Amino acid sequence: MADIVLKDVSKSYGAVQVLDRVSMHIRSGEFIVFLGPSGCGKSTLLRMIAGLEAVNEGEIRIGERRVDQLPPNQRGVAMVFQNYALYPHMTVRQNMSFGLENIGTDKAEIARRVDEAARMLEIGPLLDRRPAQLSGGQRQRVAIGRAIVREPDAFLLDEPLSNLDAGLRVRTRVELAQLHQRIGTTMIFVTHDQIEAMTLASRIVVMNNRKVEQIGTPMEVYSRPASRFVAAFVGSPSMNFIPVDALQAGPDGLRVSAGGATIATAIREQPGDAANLTLGIRPEALRVSAGGEGVLAGTVSLVERLGDRTLVHVTLADGTLVVAEDEGKSAIAAEAEVRLSVDSGAIHLFDAAGRAYHPD
Ligand code: ADP
Ligand code: MG
Repeated sequence: MADIVLKDVSKSYGAVQVLDRVSMHIRSGEFIVFLGPSGCGKSTLLRMIAGLEAVNEGEIRIGERRVDQLPPNQRGVAMVFQNYALYPHMTVRQNMSFGLENIGTDKAEIARRVDEAARMLEIGPLLDRRPAQLSGGQRQRVAIGRAIVREPDAFLLDEPLSNLDAGLRVRTRVELAQLHQRIGTTMIFVTHDQIEAMTLASRIVVMNNRKVEQIGTPMEVYSRPASRFVAAFVGSPSMNFIPVDALQAGPDGLRVSAGGATIATAIREQPGDAANLTLGIRPEALRVSAGGEGVLAGTVSLVERLGDRTLVHVTLADGTLVVAEDEGKSAIAAEAEVRLSVDSGAIHLFDAAGRAYHPD
């Protein structure tokens, strides 16, 4: 078991910088998710930890050792790729064994580890099959099994679920969470899917545009996003953003004019730069008010029924489009004039540079 520490790690391909001074401290046993849009550098960072990409600047440590100049097989980590990369002519058992055979592990020890991994992943009955005789989900488990038998200090997984169909993806996600609970080994998991990140991570590393935007537990990232980017990227449907026209101090927090109304917030910190502020509020904190007493007024443009709740798209007085929530049995229809009540404790502000202000 070992902590993984990155210090000011940067990476360029020729003149193009893809990672800019990334630092983090991953504690032994954590389930860390690198989350960010396609092209933000997640795979590059994971491959640098694995030793598959050179580090231009900075340091990577695993446990007591500095590893950034070591070859992959001396780092004590095992990588699971998106496309499994199983050998088609080998059985499942051979696929799981050959890496250990290559480094001269004793035959009885190999058999013990393969059988234990197979039991853990419930693929025992598949050991004599070839990859072509397996489903996508079974192949994925074999790929994880091949990593488990190496008994690494950490598993590095690059979008391991994205080739699976929707149902299997959810089941495999649950299996992976249970596997982590059982074996407790550090996992670093890369995804662009914020639901995977929220459900799997002990901490999420949100990345954008070469940099780390925020590192936090799923609820920290959701409730106190460090930037407008994080606020918009995490949560579905996305947080609503309404331009702020004016700002004044109030008794319990700032009061903002936005969306054609004056709205009380629980934010006390006065933004340094009050020009071009944006109010942020999640759909669940913006409710269609049955009695018509809500602070915001607008016209319904679209109603999406999800069964347990209804998403109501509303054009506000200032023309901003927002998504509000109503109950599952909502009677609201398009074209209706509605009022929306706002949970002031759930309002965030963002300045022009994207910096966030939250309630205390
Ligand atoms: P992600 O996994 O977040 O989608 P990547 O780490 O794969 O992003 O890529 C980050 C950036 O680095 C992208 O702009 C990509 O085009 C670029 N990149 C990745 N690998 C190479 C390479 N071998 N040569 C040049 N550019 C690369
Ligand atoms: Mg990638």
